[in-house]
Amino acid sequence: MNIQLHIMVVEDEADIASLLRDYLEHDGYRVSVHHNGSTVAQAIAADPPDLLILDVMLPGEDGLSLCRQIRQSSDLPIIMVTARVDEVDRLLGLELGADDYVCKPFLPREVVARVRSILRRTNSMAQQADSSEQLSYQDVTLNLQTFRCTLNDQPVELTKVEFRLLQALMQHPGRVYSRDALMNTCYADNRVVSDRTIDSHIRNLRRKLSASTQATSTGNDDQLIQSIYGMGYRLG
Ligand code: CA
Repeated sequence: MNIQLHIMVVEDEADIASLLRDYLEHDGYRVSVHHNGSTVAQAIAADPPDLLILDVMLPGEDGLSLCRQIRQSSDLPIIMVTARVDEVDRLLGLELGADDYVCKPFLPREVVARVRSILRRTNSMAQQADSSEQLSYQDVTLNLQTFRCTLNDQPVELTKVEFRLLQALMQHPGRVYSRDALMNTCYADNRVVSDRTIDSHIRNLRRKLSASTQATSTGNDDQLIQSIYGMGYRLG
């Protein structure tokens, strides 16, 4: 996982919700929690999750009806949480179409394992479908569908901003990008960031891209990302 995937947890029991949040965050996911079914559709539209953990019994709107609605328009991975084992077939059936389920009481680490496995499956499906959607330069490859970066076929963990920075540079190797241009690429919301922010992201990127090889030199000449004095950065 290179960028932080977003897991939405819909669970009205605050203890369970916060336990799930802790475990998922510990595993590197970004987690949003909702306690009432009636706010879920809006929340999904505002900040689409990569996976939804959905309790069946909820105030507002129940999980079954939410699952059914979401499935009408999207393949968003859904793990249903239920207290009733006899309900499971129905949850996974055609009518509802959840991807997986857990029964209460559950072990949080079991839920995290399910999340990981479903995301791995959906990511590898996306990778197969869109293998052409990638950028390569020398030994570095970016998959624009799965947001994975590899160096010599080894995964490199990048933040979202680092990924976008590298993507911008890799789209036109040899072209010099000013810090302003890179900032606009990386911060879609036009947040005010300083030049130093970009410099520090570039520094981290370089470190990650060289830590993964046996590169011993740290001089500019050996860097994939070159600093052009007074102008900005370019690839190669
Ligand atoms: Ca509940």
